Amino acid sequence: MAILKIVTDGNPILRRKCRPVSAVNKRIQSLLDDMLETMYDAPGVGLAAPQVGIPLRVIVMDVGKGPIKLVNPKVTYLSDEEVLDTEGCLSFPGLIGEVWRCKRVRVSGFNEFGEKVSYEGDDLFARCVQHECDHLDGRVYVDIAENVRERTSEDEEEAEEQEELETQEEPEV
Ligand code: ZN
Repeated sequence: MAILKIVTDGNPILRRKCRPVSAVNKRIQSLLDDMLETMYDAPGVGLAAPQVGIPLRVIVMDVGKGPIKLVNPKVTYLSDEEVLDTEGCLSFPGLIGEVWRCKRVRVSGFNEFGEKVSYEGDDLFARCVQHECDHLDGRVYVDIAENVRERTSEDEEEAEEQEELETQEEPEV
């Protein structure tokens, strides 16, 4: 496993549509492992392959319920209900903004063994899925966010409180 370099704003790969993975082989398995290690190291709750310079449809996530590795993810359900909440992105360090996202999503794809998997969840999980899948289509949150600003220490305290609340919920994925 290795920690990869995270691509930041200004790199055109962040605005490009990524290619599907044709086969989940050893190379993809080690990409998934390296992406997870990179995400935990950052630290973040989600990471998409273009963020480490690889234009493939691969994402990893961990919103506090354990690691999720998804190859060729496809969102198969989006709730009508939307929620506005704060978001940040490892490719736009130091910034945050508010984004409207669907409250609940279902996503399917393939795991590191090439088996079909699907997950469903709401709130932070749903937000993270939408954010990471956007990356695969070259969309970044700063383009759709309201009030993008520098993160302050007050924001960080708020985020920590938020996290504590979220971890009290039962996992739905
Ligand atoms: Zn991001």
